[in-house]
Amino acid sequence: MQCARILNRSLPQSRAEIILFNSENHLVFSPLLAEVAGSSIHPLDIVVPLRQLLPEVYCRTEEVESIDFDRNELTFEADNGEAGKMVYDHLVLACGNVTNLSVVPGMADHALPLKTVGDAAALRSHLMEQMERAEVCTETEKRKSYLTFIIVGGGFSGAEAAGEINDLVRSSARYFRNFRSEDVKVMVIHSRDQILPEISPKLREFARRKMEKAGVKIVLNARVSLATPDGVGLQGGEFIRGSTIVCTVGNSATSLVQHLAASQEKGRLLTEPDMRLRGSANVWAIGDCALIINALDGQPSPTTGQFAERQGKQCADNILRVLESSPTKPFCFKQLGELCSIGGHSAVADLFGLHLSGFIAWFIWRGVYLFKLPTFARQLQVGFDWAWLLLFPRDLAHLRTRTTDRVSHAHYQAGDFIIRQGEPPTNFYVIEQGEVEMTRVTDKDPKGEVVAILGPGSFFGEKALLSDEPRVASVRARTAVEVLVLGKNVFTQISGALAPLRDALSQTLNRRALDIWKDRPEAHALLEGTLIKELMEPVPEPLLKPETTLREVAQAFVKDGQEFFYVSTDGQTLEGVITITDLIRGRSAGSGFSTAAIEFMTKSPVSLACDDTCAAAVAAIREYRLKSLPIVESKETRKLAGCLRVRRLMGYVFKHVEPKPPGG
Ligand SMILES: Cc1cc2nc3c(=O)[nH]c(=O)nc-3n(C[C@H](O)[C@H](O)[C@H](O)COP(=O)(O)OP(=O)(O)OC[C@H]3O[C@@H](n4cnc5c(N)ncnc54)[C@H](O)[C@@H]3O)c2cc1C
Repeated sequence: MQCARILNRSLPQSRAEIILFNSENHLVFSPLLAEVAGSSIHPLDIVVPLRQLLPEVYCRTEEVESIDFDRNELTFEADNGEAGKMVYDHLVLACGNVTNLSVVPGMADHALPLKTVGDAAALRSHLMEQMERAEVCTETEKRKSYLTFIIVGGGFSGAEAAGEINDLVRSSARYFRNFRSEDVKVMVIHSRDQILPEISPKLREFARRKMEKAGVKIVLNARVSLATPDGVGLQGGEFIRGSTIVCTVGNSATSLVQHLAASQEKGRLLTEPDMRLRGSANVWAIGDCALIINALDGQPSPTTGQFAERQGKQCADNILRVLESSPTKPFCFKQLGELCSIGGHSAVADLFGLHLSGFIAWFIWRGVYLFKLPTFARQLQVGFDWAWLLLFPRDLAHLRTRTTDRVSHAHYQAGDFIIRQGEPPTNFYVIEQGEVEMTRVTDKDPKGEVVAILGPGSFFGEKALLSDEPRVASVRARTAVEVLVLGKNVFTQISGALAPLRDALSQTLNRRALDIWKDRPEAHALLEGTLIKELMEPVPEPLLKPETTLREVAQAFVKDGQEFFYVSTDGQTLEGVITITDLIRGRSAGSGFSTAAIEFMTKSPVSLACDDTCAAAVAAIREYRLKSLPIVESKETRKLAGCLRVRRLMGYVFKHVEPKPPGG
């Protein structure tokens, strides 16, 4: 925006056309995102429409998809969805970066980022929802979880978000009957030994003490290793429970930058000192997407708005110099200072070498950002919102706009409940990786009978959705699990329209509804009390490798007379199973004799552990209609321990359970 503004101001329209591509039609003023999340200001107050900001610049709300540096041409998605092309004389890349939640398992599914104005509005809405849930919740543990807010990352964004969330929830507690300010837990998890590493040690210490006094717990030297719907796991094994996870760490290059034929370091484009892309004469890169060395201290510029804005200005100046055939200047900037609001009308500020903290720093923080907001209209609006807050409480209105049903992915850790018996139905799940067990609690079996063990490719959650009744069984992850989640409406529409899915659903419903133990509860009790290791047989030899060819597999079936083979690269870990059916299916699907086993084997087959019960084994065998099950030492390692055959199980039951009299 700054670059386009200066170029537009300095170049007559007869000489140049300035075109600004941006995915959205507005600029977002990021420093105030946390204030939006904390309901201090309204979401629209921090966005400024680009065409009103730059009336003489041709603003195109379009996503640039690729750039051909040799032809000086960029490709973008046009209004009709087709690819449009445009040739440039000079190109400035200023496309920022994106939040990358995929670095930690489960984070993408269960954490809320704070990068866009949509993120801030969604977080605000989520905070309201948690307070409303805590108000009506009757279970103490669940209420605690609703009132626990975990912020991952103790940098500027993390500290500001924690401060705002803490202020919002604690100051709002007086409007609720079911919880008090003391019940609220806000926690910052930071990987280093101090939060806010960018500012001076004295200010850092002040910020930590002040935040802790306001009720924010700061967990230092802790790294989050996974996120689930119930909280976060730390490296080292500790698990912190809480229904809200806000992630302020993890940035990566935008998809455009990732696919550019240009040198990069840690997802940032490498530039010459004058901000031209390395080796380019007419492509420039500035802001968060670029790694620009500051000539002042020889250090890479930090990814802050302060630097991005100055780079925009200097880049425009350098382009003007190139047009006038004058030498360009290297990027050189002395940082003005750093400001961070930490909640409770307090901030820390490092301005022109002056260290300030507390209320005065907070007052300066507000003044600086009010002044820096791009238009007078927005300055007035934000100023008004802030003045309003001095007299009235924060707005707790929660607009529950019905959103379109989602198809998403979710991650669960071993032991997590995905569905609890008795809950209302909301989603349908398809397992992508890992295993779950379905258990049903009845009056006869209050511990919960294992109804099915499900692995990749299986689904659950269909019964309650189809009947619109509460869940009749619980589903719990046996290992780390990745699932595809379909909202109720999406599921109903697909299952209504797709006949094969309808058939598969009805077959599964029938199978899972059938109580095979009804007439022989003593057989179930026997299997429930017998561990698999008591009946398990050794691993059938030989073990095949994923690269074994179809011809070799066929020969093994003939030579060894086995019904199946296990596949393992290291001779220990179970990777797949090959049955005669897999072989025939592989051949009918057109696989040649040299095709590797990995192409046609059943990958990650459902397996049980030695310490599982034989009742659980029956549930898995029944679900998949198997003749035998691979048995592993533990669910985590999947190290092969043996196999359990249906024949052996049946023999065991017949030996110990009296047969029913004829006609009985
Ligand atoms: C919560 C938060 C608080 C912050 N607080 C501060 C602060 O207090 N002080 C400070 O100095 N900095 C702060 N920052 C950092 C600051 O916001 C960034 O450093 C700055 O916005 C970077 O500017 P930029 O122009 O490089 O990228 P951005 O501001 O991210 O703008 C990039 C734009 O390019 C668009 N875009 C991306 N790819 C394409 C494409 N292919 N086609 C078309 N358009 C595309 C994006 O939609 C976006 O509008 C904060 C950031 C966050 C997230």
